Amino acid sequence: MKFDVLTLFPAFFESPLQAGVLGKALEKQLFHMAIHNLRGWAEAPHFVVDDAPYGGGGGMVMKPEPIRRALDAIRREAPRSRLLLMTPQGRAFRQRDAVGLSREEGLILLCGRYEGIDERVRAWVDDEYSIGDYVLTGGEYAALVIIDAVARLLPGVLGNELSAGEDSFGDGLLEYPHYTRPAEFDGIRVPEVLQSGNHAEIARWRRRERLRRTLERRPELLDEAALSTGDRRLLAELRNRPEEKKE
Ligand code: SAM
Repeated sequence: MKFDVLTLFPAFFESPLQAGVLGKALEKQLFHMAIHNLRGWAEAPHFVVDDAPYGGGGGMVMKPEPIRRALDAIRREAPRSRLLLMTPQGRAFRQRDAVGLSREEGLILLCGRYEGIDERVRAWVDDEYSIGDYVLTGGEYAALVIIDAVARLLPGVLGNELSAGEDSFGDGLLEYPHYTRPAEFDGIRVPEVLQSGNHAEIARWRRRERLRRTLERRPELLDEAALSTGDRRLLAELRNRPEEKKE
């Protein structure tokens, strides 16, 4: 997988892409990154990338020509990559989008700034994504979020391939609680079952906790989760025992 990022602020990506799991994965070439400075496709001598909006009003709008030239050049190298526009007006980015995008050959992430990009650019993009109902100063934040969520799903990026599958949203539910040593801290004991070594019991407890947490915190997720008959029975029990829902 190759990520091509089109941005006015390439430096933004330096440190996040060197740190932690993604930094290691990049070193091992488990995926590839190219950060493109949009200004490089603006015209000399002034390399202007933005202009005032038609109709007046405050702020500046990113011009379409440098974006078009940059995309043409990137696409020559990566003709099958999917072009994603970062915008607060896009579809809410969810885990299932990360899973779908992780199967692509490449992604091009176009980061807006100022008031956003010229509307005509939207005709060329494959998907428009928002990372939440708030407005950021630039699409770079959103691009990093999407790169991280997608890259960690690529083969070999997480040390343990199973861990992504068990995470929250992996099967539509929140994850169960985690504990490590010591067995008692601040007067709170680690549940006995987790110390029992009984894997079947532990698996049952974890499934129940996933359902309990989701019911408590994000009940709307249950409408779309793949639930077995056993899950539904557990949920009915949890609903009938509200004291058990409390954490
Ligand atoms: N005027 C635009 C509007 O109201 O829809 C907001 C522009 S915002 C200040 C500048 C850039 O930040 C956008 O072009 C987009 O690339 C990015 N951005 C801001 N909020 C975002 C969000 N929630 N999700 C994804 N990208 C966002």
